[in-house]
Amino acid sequence: MSEILIKETREEKEKRLITRAYRNLLRSIKTKTDKKDKVNIRAAYELAVEAHKTQRRKTGEPYVLHPIEVARICTAEIGLGATAVICALLHDVVEDTSVSLNDIKEQFGERVALIVNGLTKLDFKSEDSADVESPQAENFKKVLSTLTVDVRVVLIKMADRLHNMRTLGAMPPHKQVKIAAETSFIYSPLAHRLGLYKMKTEFEDLSMKITNRDVYADISQKLQATKKERNRYIKEFIEPLEKELKENMIPYRTTGRPKSVYSIWNKLKTKKIPFEEIYDLFAVRIIVDVPPSKEKSICWQVYSIITDVYLPIPERLKDWVTVPKANGYESLHTTVVGPKGRFVEVQIRSERMDDIAERGFAAHWKYKKASKSPNVYDAWLNNVREILDNSSMDAIDFLNDFKTNLFNEEVYVYTPKGDMRVLPKGGTALDFAFSIHSDVGYHATAIKVNNKLVPMGHVLKNGDQVHITTNKSQKPSESWLKMVATGKARNKIRSAMKEERKKEGQIGRETLERKFKNIKADFVESNIEIFAKFLKYKSHVDLYFDISKEKLNPTELLKNFTVEGGKLKLIVIKEDKLPEKPVLTTKPVDLTIPRSGLHINGEPADNLDYSFATCCHPVPGDAVFAYLSTNGLKIHRSNCPNATNLAAKYGYRILRADWESVSATNFAATLVITGVDTGIGVIEAITNQISSGLGLNIRSFQIASNEGIYECQISLQVKNTAQLGLVVKSLKNISGVDMVTRME
Ligand code: MN
Repeated sequence: MSEILIKETREEKEKRLITRAYRNLLRSIKTKTDKKDKVNIRAAYELAVEAHKTQRRKTGEPYVLHPIEVARICTAEIGLGATAVICALLHDVVEDTSVSLNDIKEQFGERVALIVNGLTKLDFKSEDSADVESPQAENFKKVLSTLTVDVRVVLIKMADRLHNMRTLGAMPPHKQVKIAAETSFIYSPLAHRLGLYKMKTEFEDLSMKITNRDVYADISQKLQATKKERNRYIKEFIEPLEKELKENMIPYRTTGRPKSVYSIWNKLKTKKIPFEEIYDLFAVRIIVDVPPSKEKSICWQVYSIITDVYLPIPERLKDWVTVPKANGYESLHTTVVGPKGRFVEVQIRSERMDDIAERGFAAHWKYKKASKSPNVYDAWLNNVREILDNSSMDAIDFLNDFKTNLFNEEVYVYTPKGDMRVLPKGGTALDFAFSIHSDVGYHATAIKVNNKLVPMGHVLKNGDQVHITTNKSQKPSESWLKMVATGKARNKIRSAMKEERKKEGQIGRETLERKFKNIKADFVESNIEIFAKFLKYKSHVDLYFDISKEKLNPTELLKNFTVEGGKLKLIVIKEDKLPEKPVLTTKPVDLTIPRSGLHINGEPADNLDYSFATCCHPVPGDAVFAYLSTNGLKIHRSNCPNATNLAAKYGYRILRADWESVSATNFAATLVITGVDTGIGVIEAITNQISSGLGLNIRSFQIASNEGIYECQISLQVKNTAQLGLVVKSLKNISGVDMVTRME
């Protein structure tokens, strides 16, 4: 009796939760919706509730809360309209339930079905992709091909990923690492490229929270601790500016936000200074509310007001108002010397520019008509299409090309007539030639940059003027591949080379045909393929080419075959074929080796053949995961940069690993201690503290002194991270010790 009562109230409670989430979604729709939209949104919601009614998320919540929240992110945080809301509500319906794509097409029409189909295809389960060499690269290609179908597929997918990242805590740790790695590998650069800065920043921070838990916690704690002081400073900085802005009758608002944890961490790493010494932890933003026709002049007027009050640093002026970034970003940035001599970055922009900066691509359409600048996204999407169309390269090549060409910053260069061309940063003179026309590229002989003759691989800089001389007898060679950075140029060179090889290979093909005839084998596709496979050639063109260059001797090689009825048959079958995929090997349990306390996939790891990765030296207590490499299982720390890369590319090889809470075994860890070399017994104090004070074994000890600073490396046997933490703490207390860090 009472049980039924409890069950009913729980169901009711969940129902309330769902309706509340739905109402919240409806409230957040800011775009215009007509009656038909409203009916369809309601219908999509009801279909999702019904379809997912038995499913639950890892958090235990009803599953349908996920699509509702994804829909809310689409509209509230990206600014998409009714169609996207409907598709987001339905995004997991086809994948997980009995509703078919046809049902959706009938009820909601062609476009919704198209987008939902794209989203379903993107839902890659890692197990399915285990048989491709790099599932990550394949996935990436998939994500990008949907871009050209309907950009909303990718935008909804990103909202989906964002919600999953926000609720990642419910997942087991090894899956968290995998998802976080994939996010920083694919989704943050994509968000960046689509101008979704806010989302990109959140992706980076959420990923870092998983892969670098301790550093993340440390930086955000420090940000919190300095908040009051920072706000006071921002107020002091803005005050004199506000007076001037008001006097000039410029409608404005200001914000002073701290930078993201991830970007601060990057600063700490590249500048190699402690947190306390980073001054530009925040940027001040001045947003003016003026019509598009006045934006540019008002922005410069504001710049002038700021630099009347504070001294600017000229090298730090960045004008993306006159020429927007290729991802659509428009803003005027300057760094000035604020009160107390601190450097402060100021970003000046209009409300429209701010909207584009936050929501990128999605906001872009809203202003499309108002903007005079060329449509940056159209140009970019054309680029994406071009690279996708050239499907001849394998996925890894594709990925690398994509990363350099479409995610990088760009340089602006000019033709002799003054037409502007945009190339990715690192683009060369030869890339420029190919960007004009493939024929110009093929026949480029001499290239002048700013009237000076340069080598073809010369890297172009902003503002360069490039002049190409062509000659019909010129043709591309293998070495040209090293002189270009763009995928377009590389593809053109590759296909030209292929043509060339094909021509030269003709002789080889004829030779092979003759040899086949001699042994009475038919010169047909199936036989050629058997022969090519035996020699491990992927392309027949390459095979013919090498025969014509006499690198292969077909007569000798054909002795490995017999011929039956014109068919080629291999005589010797090689037995030493290696297994394609790495396999878990077990070793006999050796009782003399102490147990490590490590568990892999929930099982004690002692009878598995594993080793600790030498890139990050994990010790018990570290957050770790296991990676199934071709050389067996390797244990990495969750924050090992190396492993993150592996996890992103080969996520399906990741296994869960964790430690038993108590371990009796010792592990090696290396500490780096630095300080001022006073020559008075610091070293003795350190070693004393470790061996007598803490009773630990020192395994190795190195010290170097340079210009009055010593650096000491000590390798120790410790039980776990807790003990290691204790060591670090006690060493820091010794006078003369400045810094103690664990070697990564
Ligand atoms: Mn989903």
